[in-house]
Amino acid sequence: MYRILVVEDERAINDLIVMNLTEAGYECERALDGIEAADRLEAGGESFDLVLLDIMLPGADGYELLDYIKPLGIPVIFITARGSMADKVRGLRLGADDYLVKPFEIVELLARVEAVLRRAGKAQNEIEAGGLTIDTRSRTVSRGNRPIPLTAKEFDLLLLFIQNRNIALFRETIYEHIWGGEYMGDSRTVDLHVQRLRKKLHWEDKIKTIYKVGYRLEI
Ligand code: CA
Repeated sequence: MYRILVVEDERAINDLIVMNLTEAGYECERALDGIEAADRLEAGGESFDLVLLDIMLPGADGYELLDYIKPLGIPVIFITARGSMADKVRGLRLGADDYLVKPFEIVELLARVEAVLRRAGKAQNEIEAGGLTIDTRSRTVSRGNRPIPLTAKEFDLLLLFIQNRNIALFRETIYEHIWGGEYMGDSRTVDLHVQRLRKKLHWEDKIKTIYKVGYRLEI
């Protein structure tokens, strides 16, 4: 299980991040100011796989904390306030692996965490979920020993659902993540792929339709 240190002084945001990461299967520790974060990093820094690091913090700010984190070789995702482009540039130049701009969607948070862990060679290649084995390196899916052939988009869609299990996904969000373009209000592409995926996986009861919103994987 991956351990993530969440450094964020706004308690509501810290709570939201910790709750959703825990739900997604990560183990979290939290720090609500820069001093607490430095203490935790000095006490057991190397046990963390990732740090989510707010920049504006009481005590010591995110830039100062980077000095504690970088020698440990732990990847960092900076959390910045909206519009602080200078923060982003400076953060990335100082060695942050990625950044999130507040306010962010949970789906965005989970995708960035997963991507940074994967780039750092920490993410697991095999995911077990709902009776399926999903290999993200070979991009194959099987139930027991029986492979389930999926198209590239269906595989991406399955991964998106798995990474956001038990969370409602808007059609717009699904469209933007899988097809990469701007959603023009035509939900047929999304609906068609979800229906195909449901049928292939026999997940008619697991991928729930949320009226007028989108879908939710319940496993
Ligand atoms: Ca802050």
